[in-house]
Amino acid sequence: MNPENTEKLLTAYPLLYRELRERCFECGDGWFDLVWQVSTEIETAARLEGIPKTAEAWPSVSILKQKTGTLRVQFDKRVSEHIEALVTQAYERSMETCELCGAAAQLDRKRGLGKWTETLCESCRKVHHSPPHRPQDKTKLPVWMRERDSKLK
Ligand SMILES: [Zn+2]
Repeated sequence: MNPENTEKLLTAYPLLYRELRERCFECGDGWFDLVWQVSTEIETAARLEGIPKTAEAWPSVSILKQKTGTLRVQFDKRVSEHIEALVTQAYERSMETCELCGAAAQLDRKRGLGKWTETLCESCRKVHHSPPHRPQDKTKLPVWMRERDSKLK
C-alpha cells in the first residue's frame, strides 16, 4: 500500500498493527477499504470479548499480505473463532475486489496454473498486461508485483 494509506491504518489501529510498523501492508491500495473494515471488525470483536487494550493482550497482526490473489491476515498468537471468521470473510471479499482500484473484480483462477493468481478488474488487468509498463504506472502496482518485476531484471 502507498505510504498515505499505510499511515492511515497505523494511526487508526496502532495496537492491532504494532508488529507491522516496520514492515508494511503487503497488498494493493484497492484493498484499503477491505483492510479498514476488517480492522474495525476485529477491534470491535476484541472489545466485546473483554480483551484488555494492552500491548500484551490485544490481538496483533504479524502478517498482512496478498497471496495468490487473496488477502491473508495472520496474528502473532491464537485469536478467537469469531475473529478468525472475520478474517475469513475479508479473504472471501478480496476475491471480488480489484487489488489495484477497489472495483468489483473476480479472482483469476486460470493463472493459478502458472505462477500466480490475481484479483483485478478488467481495466486494471488491461493496464497490467499491456507491456511495457511506463515507469509512472509502476508506482500503482502492488508491492508484490514491483518486487517480482525487479527480480526479473
Ligand atoms: Zn481495478
